[in-house]
Amino acid sequence: MVESDRLDEIVQAWRDAENPVVFTGAGMSTASGLPDFRSARGLWKQQPESLATLTAMRKEPDEFYFFYQWRIARLWEVQPNDGHKRLVELERQGRVKTIITQNVDALHQRAGSQSVIELHGTLRTVSCVHCHARFESRQLLPKGEAWEAEYRAGLYRHGEECCCPKCGKMLRPDVVLFGESLPQDSWMKAVEWSRRSDFFVVIGSSLVVGPANLCPLWAAEGGGRLLIINAAPTPLDDKAAWIVREPASDVLKRIAEKMVP
Ligand SMILES: [Zn+2]
Repeated sequence: MVESDRLDEIVQAWRDAENPVVFTGAGMSTASGLPDFRSARGLWKQQPESLATLTAMRKEPDEFYFFYQWRIARLWEVQPNDGHKRLVELERQGRVKTIITQNVDALHQRAGSQSVIELHGTLRTVSCVHCHARFESRQLLPKGEAWEAEYRAGLYRHGEECCCPKCGKMLRPDVVLFGESLPQDSWMKAVEWSRRSDFFVVIGSSLVVGPANLCPLWAAEGGGRLLIINAAPTPLDDKAAWIVREPASDVLKRIAEKMVP
């Protein structure tokens, strides 16, 4: 556990910051009980990485849609955790200017955070590949309960829920698929905030996925002080002013309590 005087130092620096920015990854959502889809590898015939492509959507739609339906179903079953809620409090106090997230689970927004930049898109919505109409992602879930069991039995076929209600063409999750570039607008905002930030907090990211991992690097190179809260070492640890290896929700709780005078 991080010592109390070290925590005081972090809180003081956070308080003094003009542009505190938070950057989150998968570790942020662990406490919500969202299963890491990579850990469910046995479920799919292929590697998740090869399913998350437009090619898979066209050539193996049953595999593709089941993969996303499974993930979307899990997403709507979980709730934001205490860590997400602490970040909402900190934003309301002006202690978080924006959250840059690699997560597609939308749990920051569901918790109540206002300024969230989603670098990898979102699983909260799906869009039509043809007319670009957008729907809440629950639209993509099959009716009834049997579909997961059907998949396991090799009987699953994707259905009309995967088609746009307006034009009938395919719906796709609004996430960045492998081979696609990041949403330009989100990326530009993230770059700008990272360069401007004087206090940059990384939470639950191993900082190995590019180009997202350039954000903390630019913050550090621009003179921002880096706080890394992550279970495992990251490639940017040597640039960090503080490294904390504790669950994010525990650390944020202690920081938020000290932050309020
Ligand atoms: Zn359409």
